[in-house]
Amino acid sequence: MTDVSPSQGGPGSGKGTQCEKLVEKYGFTHLSTGELLRQELALESERSKLIRDIMERGDLVPSGVVLELLKEAMVASLANTKGFLIEGYPREVKQGQEFGRRIRDPHLVVCMDCSADTMTNRLLQRNQSSQRGEDTAKTIAKRLEAYHRASIPVIAYYETKTQLQKVNAEGTPDQVFLQLCRAIESVF
Ligand code: ADP
Ligand code: MG
Repeated sequence: MTDVSPSQGGPGSGKGTQCEKLVEKYGFTHLSTGELLRQELALESERSKLIRDIMERGDLVPSGVVLELLKEAMVASLANTKGFLIEGYPREVKQGQEFGRRIRDPHLVVCMDCSADTMTNRLLQRNQSSQRGEDTAKTIAKRLEAYHRASIPVIAYYETKTQLQKVNAEGTPDQVFLQLCRAIESVF
């Protein structure tokens, strides 16, 4: 394994958009726990049934399950990777501690700073242009609130553990990308 850099940021802060651009430029292996969970949900396993019930309630999936999915995916591309870009993880300090123990601490943690208004507007717009059923006004508010509550201790945790870089995520995708490239190149 080479480098690990999870990105922190609320729903709608642009993590997915930026990760796509970063993969294109740096060739990182992009892992999104949301995407790994969705892939798992498509299977008819006991694990997928457990995950489905929890997600339908709007709760966080247990950290051990998410870490298991992540580790399986990382091991699968270990032989030919330029580094891992892990989107939207960890969501809780406990997940970060477990990740550090079972895998290792990331070299860089990026935090996408974005206001609740901007995130809400982007998600409502995305709703209109896609079929993703999870983003209703009610679930957006719940997810934003959960993110705010959880992100403060996670960011404080990584401030002392590793390199943490904050990026202003309010601008255009190109403006945000420029800041991310600077953050990455200042570390690697
Ligand atoms: P996340 O993965 O953090 O939830 P996404 O990358 O999926 O965020 O972006 C959420 C929505 O906002 C998408 O519709 C995306 O096209 C749009 N979006 C992302 N970044 C920006 C930006 N910098 N400016 C305007 N809209 C954006
Ligand atoms: Mg996303």
